[in-house]
Amino acid sequence: MDWKALVSAEIESNRALLENLASQIGKNPELGFAEYEASRLLSSALQEAGYAVTQGIAGLETAFKGVLGEGKPNLALLCEYDALPELGHACGHNLIGVASVGAALGIAPFLPQLGGQITVLGAPAEETGGGKVLLVEADAFRDIDAAMMFHPANQNLLMSRSNAIDAYEFVFIGKEAHAASAPEDGINALDGVISLFNGINALREHLPDSIRIHGIISEGGQAPNVVPGRAVARFYIRAPQRSLLDEIRAKVFRVAEGAALMTGTQVSWEKFEPSNDNFVPNQPLALAFGANLQRLGVREIVEYADGRGSSDMGNVSQVVPAIHPYLSIGEDLVGHTAEFAQASLSPEGLNTMMIAAQALAYTLVDVLIDPRLLHSAKREHEGT
Ligand SMILES: [Zn+2]
Repeated sequence: MDWKALVSAEIESNRALLENLASQIGKNPELGFAEYEASRLLSSALQEAGYAVTQGIAGLETAFKGVLGEGKPNLALLCEYDALPELGHACGHNLIGVASVGAALGIAPFLPQLGGQITVLGAPAEETGGGKVLLVEADAFRDIDAAMMFHPANQNLLMSRSNAIDAYEFVFIGKEAHAASAPEDGINALDGVISLFNGINALREHLPDSIRIHGIISEGGQAPNVVPGRAVARFYIRAPQRSLLDEIRAKVFRVAEGAALMTGTQVSWEKFEPSNDNFVPNQPLALAFGANLQRLGVREIVEYADGRGSSDMGNVSQVVPAIHPYLSIGEDLVGHTAEFAQASLSPEGLNTMMIAAQALAYTLVDVLIDPRLLHSAKREHEGT
């Protein structure tokens, strides 16, 4: 039986529905944790196809879960659907959510014969809220054997690592005073923040090239004639491995303490977004996905590249074998730009989404008909 041909025909028969969904979500960008319409649209498409859908899981209103079939293996398709402030769907998450739903629809009629279970997980707030981190913490992957999704990009790339990231907000407290008539009575909290930046810049010279530390001043005082009594900086700290990030972060905290000491301010810090772990691509599954892309006529596939960004899919890849391949929706695109948002609504974007849906569904078929594939995926994941 050529299951993949059947799956493609099924996905093709849903083309209008899927393209419509991607356009609707793309034209109605919703920010992280407020993706009410997107999660409703994706959930109801799954429900129509026979999935048992729960809206609102892990204490997150806009997360959802759709389950079809029973027993093992239990394979997860992940949906993202959050947008960026101002820019809309400039990371193409409308295409991600719909591609996973498309794959789920494509395999649905054949699942009773193929056996096993498909779980579609709607993961909100990838950009700023770490929806998948929260899903992992809520044990949403406990019964899952492998997890898959695709991400739109400017190239076809099967495997790339991503950086672990910690997001910290540093609050410096000083003492307000008239900046001209009584500066000696003040303690300048902004000086604390500036010293933090300078200290981190000095630290940078002695860090591995792979480390990224980048920050903004989110509060820097109220008026030039008032000594700032409170100043706030937000930093992202990234490293290729969680263990290295933990070491670097400790150094950054020491710099913050030093900045407070030398300026006479008080400093405190806390996370302002959930941390992401580094993404570990699962090679057996990624290569199967790549072979499926070739069957679908995709050429110019890059097997591996180092990535510098971060994704909450990293946390998923730490608990189950996972893939997060990239597919091109336009050659010269840069993520998080107006051009990328346009491309995520373009015919090329929608076409890539349809290919992604099929390649994901084919990879599900591979895992369901050949137990050795999941076996080697799990062995690699467990490092044995
Ligand atoms: Zn993204």
